[in-house]
Amino acid sequence: MLKRIDLTRDFQKHKKEYMEAIEAVCQETAYSGGRFADQFDREFADFCKVPYAAGVNNGTSALHCAMMALGIGAGDEVIVPANTYIATAWGVTYTGAVPVFVDCTADTWEIDPDKIEEKITDKTRAIIGVHLYGQPFEFRKVKEIADRHGLYVVEDCAQAHGAGYEGKAVGGLGELGCFSFYPGKNLYAFGEGGSVTCHKKEYYDVITTIKNQGCQVRYYHDLTGYNYRLEGLQGAVLSVSLKYLPGWTKRRREIGRRYIREIANPLLTMQVHPENTDPVFHLFVITVEDPEYFVPYMERKGMECHRHYPVPCHLQKAYKHLGYKKGDCPNAEYLADHCVTLPLFPEMTDEEAGWVIEACNDYRA
Ligand SMILES: *Cc1c(COP(=O)(O)O)cnc(C)c1O
Repeated sequence: MLKRIDLTRDFQKHKKEYMEAIEAVCQETAYSGGRFADQFDREFADFCKVPYAAGVNNGTSALHCAMMALGIGAGDEVIVPANTYIATAWGVTYTGAVPVFVDCTADTWEIDPDKIEEKITDKTRAIIGVHLYGQPFEFRKVKEIADRHGLYVVEDCAQAHGAGYEGKAVGGLGELGCFSFYPGKNLYAFGEGGSVTCHKKEYYDVITTIKNQGCQVRYYHDLTGYNYRLEGLQGAVLSVSLKYLPGWTKRRREIGRRYIREIANPLLTMQVHPENTDPVFHLFVITVEDPEYFVPYMERKGMECHRHYPVPCHLQKAYKHLGYKKGDCPNAEYLADHCVTLPLFPEMTDEEAGWVIEACNDYRA
């Protein structure tokens, strides 16, 4: 069975390097924060072409830290796309603020700039745009709206490490960029990890304080802190992976572009990738009228597919109290009902990619 994503291939290929990196951390017992985590922060900031990157324990914490750094809290509202992984909204909720969900477009499946303004109130403080599936959202339009209303734009880059927008790297476009290194993301740790990128030292300083129990000088706590530090082992592993990320991205793009060229079945609809963006194909999502039939069909052909995501944020039980109903975000709801994610990962062979293409083209309702 060809898995939707198979991480064992990367480990087998680079095992020696990963194990040496892990051993170096153990030799120094630099387990929590420390030299290896700090080293990765500098490398990751360079990669994103920003002056600062603050490593944290996961992407959800990265989003929480970003909200706290902007001073967002109870009484505030933050605009969030309905079509995203739920963690985009958690960071807002943790601060006591309320996520306000906006529909995605019918073709790019990213936040719809034309539906943002009607959701802005005098409580709105920020817009979180998500570069979902590795496809940059329409940053320029979102930023124009934000500027008109005096709002911050935060990027959720958890699925888009290395993606480009008008020649710039994601993570440096908005006020703050939030990354996840969850296993299976384009850049991943051997466990959990995340990072917040920014241009302003004031954000970096407050986030490094917050993530470290609210202190800069040990045992002196200046504000309510969290234990959100990046582990040294993860920092060391991430420094190894980061060297391979450009190659992985190149390969993801090759496979993604090949799917776009060669999958031609009127029953399958693909995401639209605007000219001014350079996506990184974190997830290759298509829509099909009947995923309940298509997913088992692919399985019978020996290929595993997943569904990202079967329930849009505004209809999750956790947000029932916000009072959304079916019909509020029709494009996100259509996607939730019809999305299927095809196998795509850097170590896939050309032959395996060919199987996916053939199976998709042979599919009949
Ligand atoms: C994975 C992901 C997150 C959360 O990251 P974790 O490291 O799993 O906490 C947030 N937003 C999006 C869009 C994601 O895909």
